[in-house]
Amino acid sequence: MSELYDVIIIGAGPAGLTAGIYAARADLKTLLIERYGAGGQILNTYEVDNYPGLAGITGGELGAKMSEHLDKFNVTRLMTEVEGIDFSEGANKVKTDAGTFIGKTVILATGNSPRKLGIPGEEELTGAGVSYCATCDGAFFKKRTVAVIGGGDVAVEDAIFLARGCEKVYLVHRRDELRAAKILQKALFELPNVEVVWDSIPKEIVKADTGMVGGLTIENVKSHEVKTLEVSGVFIATGNNPNSSYTDAIDKDENGYIKADESCATSLPGVFAAGDVRTKRLRQVSTAVADGANAVYSVQEFLI
Ligand code: NAP
Repeated sequence: MSELYDVIIIGAGPAGLTAGIYAARADLKTLLIERYGAGGQILNTYEVDNYPGLAGITGGELGAKMSEHLDKFNVTRLMTEVEGIDFSEGANKVKTDAGTFIGKTVILATGNSPRKLGIPGEEELTGAGVSYCATCDGAFFKKRTVAVIGGGDVAVEDAIFLARGCEKVYLVHRRDELRAAKILQKALFELPNVEVVWDSIPKEIVKADTGMVGGLTIENVKSHEVKTLEVSGVFIATGNNPNSSYTDAIDKDENGYIKADESCATSLPGVFAAGDVRTKRLRQVSTAVADGANAVYSVQEFLI
């Protein structure tokens, strides 16, 4: 018979790590299951400049700091992939390739994954010039020309980051206005080696004779002009999808986000959703951290 935990936290991004810290401090017997190690999506961010008290910290540093903070406490951590969860009040069974673990409560803090474009060349050339993480792969494109697709915070941050090492960066956006925070836009527009390609959608990622990315074909949605930008890298930053496919037993919204309010309580008793995987207005490190704390508060109420 597997050990019984008060709470099993799935996910080690800011929401899961915060939940771990709060759970340990509440003296709950806690298991934290992480898939790729700690940090979550902030590892894909070069600089996190809006987390109070840590101006300019890199995503990697912030993830490491949060992880080290958790390690001060008595929380069992396990690196494995969750295959499915059998929800049953008081004895939720979390199935992983390292065995099945039982929790009186579960906190789902599984975050998001990058959204795919679904255009020709994308899948074939992923890892051969197509990337979803500029901070991970940008160094391979020093002094080269690359394209970033998207107009949100991540796309603009990626373009700024890549412009430091690349000869030229195209930012390809489907509208004539960026969604990103104004402070990021200001920084972007000041860079001489960034060209924003407005009103344009990607149609195909072209393979060069080398077997790597050689170009990005785009179409202007107003003029319908089609052209191919000569680039050796394409960074896709068009948003995220929630990592919630491991369960159909919980109520989700039409986009797959787990329905839960600020209490993090889901449609199932004893099961809580924290961070980017839950329905919410603003997905930020600060709101994920808040969820981690709230979820544990709800766990304590539930256990009482
Ligand atoms: P996002 O804000 O949803 O932006 C996605 C961008 O991709 C949008 O500009 C969207 O265009 C475009 N797009 C979506 N589907 C597309 C498609 N099929 N083809 C072409 N373009 C497409 O996503 P994000 O930038 O990944 O950010 C995710 C969340 O994290 C946001 O809430 C963001 O504020 C937050 N975040 C915050 C920070 C920070 O505060 N420092 C840093 C990173 C992320 P439209 O604009 O036309 O919809």
